[in-house]
Amino acid sequence: MAIRNITVRGSEVLAKKCKPVKEITPRVRELCLDMIDTMHEADGVGLAAPQVGVLKRIFVAMPYPDEAPDKVYVMINPEITFEEGSQESCEGCLSVPGYMGVVDRPERVKVKALDIDGNEFELELDGFAATVICHENDHLDGILYADKARDFMTSEEFYEKLNSEAEAGADE
Ligand SMILES: [Zn+2]
Repeated sequence: MAIRNITVRGSEVLAKKCKPVKEITPRVRELCLDMIDTMHEADGVGLAAPQVGVLKRIFVAMPYPDEAPDKVYVMINPEITFEEGSQESCEGCLSVPGYMGVVDRPERVKVKALDIDGNEFELELDGFAATVICHENDHLDGILYADKARDFMTSEEFYEKLNSEAEAGADE
């Protein structure tokens, strides 16, 4: 297992549509395990294959970082099969370091995918966990949250704004 370099915004590979995985070869498994290591090393909750320069439909995700940090999923050829509701999600991305923004996401999703052994599984997620899956899945279609975010700004500015909004709210 190894840590791979994370590609940053501006690189063409992040804007391309990824291809489905036809066969889960040892090389694909190694990629998945490297992606998990790389996600942990970068302190992220998700990482998609194009972020390490590979145009395959694979991402890894840790949708419950506080409640269940041991739940790390490898999703190969993922497909969002159901979406419901909406939420505003504050997001950042390992490929857009130092920035944050607000994205409209569904409140609840179902996603099906193959695991690292090629077994199909399905998850139902809501709240923050749903946004993680949607964010990573977008990467596989060449979409960065930064392309569709409102209030896209540096993390510093973002937290200042949140704080000032909280203070304004407290005065009311
Ligand atoms: Zn991202």
